[in-house]
Amino acid sequence: MSTPRIAVFGSVNMDLVAYADTAPATGETVTGTAFRQVPGGKGANQAVAAARAGADTVFLGAVGGDAFGTELRDNLVAAGIDTTGLRTVPGPSGIAHIVVDGRGGNSIIVVPGANGGVTGTVPGDRELIGGADALLLQLELPMEAVVAAARTGREQGVRVHLTPAPARDLPDELLESVDVLVPNEHEAAAITGRTDPREALAALLERVPEVLITLGGEGSLHGTRSGAPVHVPALKVDAVDTTAAGDTFCGSFAVARAEGADPAGAMRFAAAAAALSVQRRGASSSMPARAEVEDLLR
Ligand code: ADP
Repeated sequence: MSTPRIAVFGSVNMDLVAYADTAPATGETVTGTAFRQVPGGKGANQAVAAARAGADTVFLGAVGGDAFGTELRDNLVAAGIDTTGLRTVPGPSGIAHIVVDGRGGNSIIVVPGANGGVTGTVPGDRELIGGADALLLQLELPMEAVVAAARTGREQGVRVHLTPAPARDLPDELLESVDVLVPNEHEAAAITGRTDPREALAALLERVPEVLITLGGEGSLHGTRSGAPVHVPALKVDAVDTTAAGDTFCGSFAVARAEGADPAGAMRFAAAAAALSVQRRGASSSMPARAEVEDLLR
């Protein structure tokens, strides 16, 4: 089996996370208990997940010319990811400013920075995307850029996976280039207005040929236009931090599919990777290496 090749066109952020017993109200200052600075962004997280799952991975996107930009690039390189398609642009990198209170609730401000300046593909992106087996997209870049990347993938015969997060209306000009849509249950409900995952699945299948809805601790549900939906349960584990569980799942699923696994097999592989990640704190730092996933599945 040859090594699968995955391209991710998406966001990369520095997450600035402050912990306090109580989050400050407007006009209030509180003393926090801890601070962490961690690389994030759904695009970068899915790229790390794909690389850990064993794919040759290339990341396309943008960082700013600030110190965060250097650190974010270095983090991707350290994960073994090809950053040829990661441009450095003037101005700040994207950041997510996160406040976590003593009960684990959070509030987040995302400032897109360099991500917001990605309005399309640039020369060179075509070859990087065309060289992949699958292209992973999310919605943290401007819509016109996501549409341009999806079209490029479709034109080159690359399977296009879209994680519709953050949830928003999905234009037909995007979905016509998408092969598989991978929302979580909340995104699926927001997009379709159906809270029942099976109903949401059916509604989404009217717009794309393949859909995979993740259901947190309940597993995942897959469907195509022919045949009955397939449900694969999650592994029973003690979850301590579900940050980036979905990104781990999406990246691992894409790798397994690119290797030729059928949907149910790829869902089991992805569920094992995500189950390992939720037992550790952190976002991309909690994602397991392929050998750990294979051990768990043995
Ligand atoms: P997101 O992180 O996008 O909200 P989900 O919460 O649906 O995505 O989680 C994605 C996948 O991660 C699930 O399909 C499941 O395999 C795994 N997962 C999430 N939470 C748990 C949990 N508590 N126990 C075991 N696996 C989990």
